Amino acid sequence: MDSVKLYEAGSGDRSMLNGKRVAVIGWGSQGHAHALNLHDSGVSVVVGLREGSRSAEAARQAGLEVSPVAKAAESANVISILIPDTVQPTVYRDEIAPNLHDGDTFLVAHGFNVHYKQIVPPKTVDVIMVAPKAPGAMVRSEYVAGRGTPGLIAIHQDASGNALQVTLAYADAIGCTRAGVLETTFAAETETDLFGEQTVLCGGVTSLIKAGFETLVNAGYPEELAYFECLHELKFIVDLIQSKGLQGMRAEVSDTAEYGDYVGGPRVIGNGTRQVMQELLDDIRSGAFARRWIADGKAGGAELTKLRESENAHPIEDVGRRLRARMAWL
Ligand code: NDP
Ligand code: MG
Repeated sequence: MDSVKLYEAGSGDRSMLNGKRVAVIGWGSQGHAHALNLHDSGVSVVVGLREGSRSAEAARQAGLEVSPVAKAAESANVISILIPDTVQPTVYRDEIAPNLHDGDTFLVAHGFNVHYKQIVPPKTVDVIMVAPKAPGAMVRSEYVAGRGTPGLIAIHQDASGNALQVTLAYADAIGCTRAGVLETTFAAETETDLFGEQTVLCGGVTSLIKAGFETLVNAGYPEELAYFECLHELKFIVDLIQSKGLQGMRAEVSDTAEYGDYVGGPRVIGNGTRQVMQELLDDIRSGAFARRWIADGKAGGAELTKLRESENAHPIEDVGRRLRARMAWL
């Protein structure tokens, strides 16, 4: 097991960004948060947006300078690409690569494109990652509250010899060191991220919900009950797990539920599922998953569209829409 190094508040030397200008490309979830936090930390920031961007007005209103992507990249020493991962390779190739100078820093918040070589910056620039482990809105609100969200940092390429110092300074300026940043690698961040979303967070959870729902409905129980028991209540459990851990959650549910957890859970997720998890991890590590996903994107997303349509048609979505319409707080 590799151990990870933790950097806390004070480990970033903010002066590493003195005299540097940061171009934040994008004003989405992460982009607006990085740009505003950097700006409030005294860093010179320009927001790079595409032509006709509907975000330009908002960024200007927030007091930031806005430029077209290429011009922003040209004028900056640190280029932070915070637009959707699927569009990054094209924007990088057309607008950013021609404007990278020796000694610049290219920064990402997720390793996918660099790790799978969809973006290959020149050897003369630093390539680093600062990945807050939170949605942008929280990266911003925690910073404003004087706190921060934890993050991951990694160095892919250290051309300047100062890559780690610049990375820590940036992580510090967006507030992440206040909560602690863990040093990792592009490979580990990318592979664990893909694994988590496929096996647990997205794929695992949605398949578990559907399997539970279908089992009850096929046994003759009303869809409404199956929806409540297998989907709706998940939030209460996940909130408890996030704030208190697994045993903390178990302490809050009934003893019957806790006992059922211990005896039922290991049978639901048995060796078959663990074997599949290993296979999915193997596909992530070999690049097979990335190749399939990138190829689908290049082909216009036909497979994604087909999968999306078939999932939209699942009966749980219909009953869910009807029940959620009665939940005023949603
Ligand atoms: P968003 O989807 O929120 O990015 C939206 C921004 O991208 C908008 O400003 C939009 O422009 C711009 N954009 C979209 N398409 C283009 C294009 N073709 N050319 C130029 N600009 C474009 O991105 P996220 O913040 O979700 O993700 C950014 C990065 O951060 C990704 O690498 C992601 O993996 C990573 N990340 C995201 C997290 C999250 O919580 N969302 C958490 C940690 C990492 P316009 O304003 O003109 O519409
Ligand atoms: Mg993720």
